[in-house]
Amino acid sequence: MLQLITILNRCHRFPGFVYQQARFSSDHKSIEIAVRPRKGSKAVCSRCHQPAPGYDQLAERRFEFIPFWGFLVFLLYSMRRVDCRRCQAVVVEEVPWGDGKRTLTKAYMLFLARWARRLSWKETAEAFRTSWDKVFDAVEHVVTWGLEHRVLGQIDAIGVDEIQYARGHKYLTLVYQIDLGVTRLLWIGKERTIESFQGFFTAMGKDVISKIVFVCSDMWEPYLKLIREHCSEALHILDRFHIVANMNKALDNVRAEETSRMKREGRAPVLRKSRWLLLRRSENLGTDQHFRLRDLLRYNLKTVRAYLLKEAFQQLWEYSSPAWAGKFLDQWCRQTMRSRIEPMKKIARSLRNHRELILNYFRAQKLLSSGVVEGLNNKAKVTMRKSYGFRTYRVLELALYHSLGKLPEPDSTHDFF
Ligand SMILES: [Zn+2]
Repeated sequence: MLQLITILNRCHRFPGFVYQQARFSSDHKSIEIAVRPRKGSKAVCSRCHQPAPGYDQLAERRFEFIPFWGFLVFLLYSMRRVDCRRCQAVVVEEVPWGDGKRTLTKAYMLFLARWARRLSWKETAEAFRTSWDKVFDAVEHVVTWGLEHRVLGQIDAIGVDEIQYARGHKYLTLVYQIDLGVTRLLWIGKERTIESFQGFFTAMGKDVISKIVFVCSDMWEPYLKLIREHCSEALHILDRFHIVANMNKALDNVRAEETSRMKREGRAPVLRKSRWLLLRRSENLGTDQHFRLRDLLRYNLKTVRAYLLKEAFQQLWEYSSPAWAGKFLDQWCRQTMRSRIEPMKKIARSLRNHRELILNYFRAQKLLSSGVVEGLNNKAKVTMRKSYGFRTYRVLELALYHSLGKLPEPDSTHDFF
């Protein structure tokens, strides 16, 4: 008969240790497998990773293994302590199936972490009858390993993005690699200040930074300043996605302000429920919405004029020559400055100030896949929703690296799918 020990020896075997026996726990809900050191094998010091003479043995510990046919599975083992001459201390031994800190085996952590990429962390915990904290531990283990072992290599292009969290009160700075063949999350910073973004350049090192050819970002001043300093040779591009997002924000301010003013003056609420009509690209509207938009556009409202300016601006992206794009941009800014709509004028002023960085978009157009930062930004938002539980910075950091970092995974004795 095929025994559990035989299966374990096939998929989770470590030199120096043997599986002794498998039995049900007293409540019959879990399987416990006793592990002991192989006779004559020396314990390994967990500090210097070298074999060392034994000192004593600690009480039995339970290590959680991958559940099997509806039973929780535990490895039971009494850790030895060694009297290590190299470290000149009594140190607990290193065991190949665990990391010394956590009660989960490495195999189980990798297993849970893989599922936590597909399901939310909460769903993962429920599916495997474990806790949210253990899923957190698993992801932390796998991400830490991945960050220590990843290879940065040559990075041609980066995109700098920010994302709001904690109900919009706080910002994260995300830096992506956006090379044509490789897109991945490289770095996450708390806040979006000069000090925090400086951390990116320190973490990557001068060697990697100096070879970057393209940088995409939005108009946030700390980003602009540090990119000028560190990537002076790179072509700095103001990202289309961020420019469009800023313009939508301005339009939304105009709409909100005008809506409440009309209400105060007791006028008909023609702008009610117009938010998405105005923010969505007109080609993405349904027939019904098209009619409603057409009705709305008959009114002589600030919102309508701001909307038409925004729609006219879209034409910019059709140009392929930087010179013609520049002429169009100047023309649009002139027209907008005469519009007497302050949020739109603010956009025009800012576009004028960053004219060259915007035109760099056209200089680099053939070399960068546009929309890549937007796509990554959307993925990041989905990931943040899926990691719910405790939305601390650490949780978000781990979740984002885990799903967008394309990190290498710890080695495994067997593919536990
Ligand atoms: Zn040692």
